[in-house]
Amino acid sequence: MEQAALFTIFGGTGDLAQRKLYPSLFRLYKKGNLANHFAVIGTARRPWSDEHYREIVRETIKDLAPTDKEAQEFSDHFYYLSHNVNDTEHYDQLKELADQLDETYQLQGNRIYYLAMAPQFFGTIVNHLKSQAILTTTGYNRLVIEKPFGFDYDSANKLNDQIRNVFPEQDIFRIDHYLGKEMIQNISVIRFANNIFESLWNNRYIENVQITFSEALGVEDRGGYYEHSGALKDMVQNHILQVVALLAMEVPTSFSNQSIREEKVKVLQAIRRYDSEEVLQNFVRGQYDAGVIDDQTYSAYRDEPNVAEDSLMETFVAGKFLIDNFRWSGVPFYVRTGKRMTEKGTRINIVFKQVPVNVFNFEQAEADGEELPQNILTIYIQPTEGFSLTLNGKKIGQGFNTEPVKLDFRQSAEVTENSPEAYEKLLLDALHGDGTNFSHWDEVANSWEIVDRIRNTWDQTTPGFPNYAAGTMGPQCAFDLLAKNGHEWAWQP
Ligand code: NAD
Repeated sequence: MEQAALFTIFGGTGDLAQRKLYPSLFRLYKKGNLANHFAVIGTARRPWSDEHYREIVRETIKDLAPTDKEAQEFSDHFYYLSHNVNDTEHYDQLKELADQLDETYQLQGNRIYYLAMAPQFFGTIVNHLKSQAILTTTGYNRLVIEKPFGFDYDSANKLNDQIRNVFPEQDIFRIDHYLGKEMIQNISVIRFANNIFESLWNNRYIENVQITFSEALGVEDRGGYYEHSGALKDMVQNHILQVVALLAMEVPTSFSNQSIREEKVKVLQAIRRYDSEEVLQNFVRGQYDAGVIDDQTYSAYRDEPNVAEDSLMETFVAGKFLIDNFRWSGVPFYVRTGKRMTEKGTRINIVFKQVPVNVFNFEQAEADGEELPQNILTIYIQPTEGFSLTLNGKKIGQGFNTEPVKLDFRQSAEVTENSPEAYEKLLLDALHGDGTNFSHWDEVANSWEIVDRIRNTWDQTTPGFPNYAAGTMGPQCAFDLLAKNGHEWAWQP
């Protein structure tokens, strides 16, 4: 159904706006979620004209093969305002344009403010939205903000206070674009729509849970950003802890925004807060060295642009979270993420406990030290989407030898290609006022509390970097971490 709204995109000339936001808005336009009653104001420092802005917007949607008419009609809804976010006068112009577009397109005072720029500007922007009376009284005013949300608990808290001065929590949409991904959303369906899983989803049947977010790319041109962030803050604080929460939460009483958030927060609260010694036992870090993959040599992190030659920043993290509640007591949640790993892939492995006794070839298996392979449920998030379950079956032939068999479901490349992009779904959620797939402040706060402890401990010790070659699945310590509990990574490409 068509939604009426004015989007104001701060940072309208930026990379995110061009690569993600305009194409996603166009997809919503093609589907009729946006039609006649919408307008977009792009604002940034550059002195662009409306016409130039529209040309850029048309350029960004080229790959989606619009007809000339479609591209023209869509881009006609876009307006540009050159604007320095620190300059109060500019907000008066913004108000004037916003009010005028509201009338022209009959937008009912519905406004979405998308802050696609560095977080240091968030405070001043939201204050001006209020002080210059840009916020409407007739419709809704919703704020969409990008990560990173702070760089530790204190800074996030401060940022949150600034924003909450102006917007109530239910109108704040903190983007974690992984939450818009099809298979991340599918975690809940796999769990709560399949009795064979939900009834086993606890410490009686699950031995350990493994979450891998690996990238084959290095730091590329983001060295400057990465030197302040590192893998822990860039990936664990947000995406990985969100996935842990979705995997571990209790069944919500209804599949509503409020109930899900409550359950996710409870999990994050139950994650054990490690002291320094526990951090050192349970979390390891790595930094990539040069390496050769398919005859091509890749340079070490320290040789990348804008990276210090003696940088101690981690490009890899692996760790073990423990959740101290009835359901999960004693079940390690292993996580790992890094750059320049063997291949790009996000996947979750749920490793089930073995049957108490292997009755097949028991004596022989015992003598060989062989155990039955464990059942593993794998959820493939990207690049392929789907899930698989490994079971044990009988090997054809005389006797009762077992062999692993795999039930495998993958979405076809075509379906994956045509499924809505994360940003498209999240923008539509924001239009509907549905915060389910965004991070609530309580989730962000708990995640920072957990991550700060790791960071603070690491900051007091000097790692022996670099410690893994480009093209590998991380340093040896990441394998030892599981081995000391008698476990191993189920995914070893
Ligand atoms: P960018 O540097 O490409 O764009 C920044 C925008 O802010 C530009 O339009 C610039 O003109 C504008 N700007 C900067 N200073 C300004 C000022 N004083 N007044 C007015 N405008 C000003 O950055 P980006 O990659 O688009 O990222 C934007 C935000 O999104 C960042 O917070 C980033 O961390 C986050 N993010 C980006 C991506 C991505 O894929 N690019 C992914 C996740 C999160």
